[in-house]
Amino acid sequence: MKFLVCIKQVVDTSKMEVDPATGRLKRNNANSIMNPLDRNALEAALALKDEKGGTVTVISMGPPQAGTVLKEAISMGADEAYLVTDRAFGGADTLATSYTLSMAIRKIGTFDLIFCGQESIDSNTAQIGPEIAATLGISDVSGAIDLSFEKDGFITVTRQMGDDEEVLDMKLPGVITCTAELNRPRYPSIRGILRKDEVEIHNITSQDMDVDAGRIGMKGSPTQVRQVRPVVPPKKENLRIEGKTAREAVDALFGAMQKLKLV
Ligand SMILES: Cc1cc2nc3c(=O)[nH]c(=O)nc-3n(C[C@H](O)[C@H](O)[C@H](O)COP(=O)(O)OP(=O)(O)OC[C@H]3O[C@@H](n4cnc5c(N)ncnc54)[C@H](O)[C@@H]3O)c2cc1C
Repeated sequence: MKFLVCIKQVVDTSKMEVDPATGRLKRNNANSIMNPLDRNALEAALALKDEKGGTVTVISMGPPQAGTVLKEAISMGADEAYLVTDRAFGGADTLATSYTLSMAIRKIGTFDLIFCGQESIDSNTAQIGPEIAATLGISDVSGAIDLSFEKDGFITVTRQMGDDEEVLDMKLPGVITCTAELNRPRYPSIRGILRKDEVEIHNITSQDMDVDAGRIGMKGSPTQVRQVRPVVPPKKENLRIEGKTAREAVDALFGAMQKLKLV
């Protein structure tokens, strides 16, 4: 079977910083990670490949630095990787992102199952998976907590609905978005770590696909994030008071309190 996993490079929320001038999130390799639920999505595909055979392809849309999460996916066991990258895709909302990803998927080939995380940790819209399914005209189930093959041409998907569980037979091909309850992602293997430097990441630009220029990037985005602002005040720095004697330490403490206008 052919499996595809959508992987987003996200800003680690514990290191989130907003540029005060632009109101935009600061993104760089130092504060970026693979979206945590995308590990569950990748594990789901790798486990089904272990069971049924086949290939696992990973895809990400983002700047060149997003190649890092694709390399990580290779080290966990993915077979091949595609990076959808072009300045023309910048500023995309979920509609433009899912359209671009869908066109790239169409260009790469056909897949029995496409996996996404249920949502990203830096935008949390949970729209990309269902939108890819709608654009490609295939089935879709969100929020999987269990998967099994019980009926030819279908996959059985269990998902949590409040206090109840819903069990659905989803016709293939289709898109499944994955929760953290679905599985426990594997660690990269030594073989995978060695392989990640050998596997080439295939770049896909707007020139490589048959895209409608009015449906990509900012032009194709009816939603635009105007500003991101923190609602929790930033943590105050700890101050270490030192002195060779108790007297010196008390003086240093008093001086610091005066500086902070506390006395
Ligand atoms: C703070 C903030 C808020 C935003 N709010 C909105 C908004 O309200 N409406 C809107 O239209 N856009 C919004 N955006 C833009 C949004 O980041 C992009 O559209 C993004 O590519 C997809 O949205 P998401 O991360 O919410 O996806 P989700 O639907 O939450 O992501 C689910 C899954 O889809 C897959 N996926 C998502 N993005 C990619 C990608 N680039 N490459 C590969 N796989 C991917 C992953 O498997 C991921 O786990 C926001 C951006 C920011 C920074």
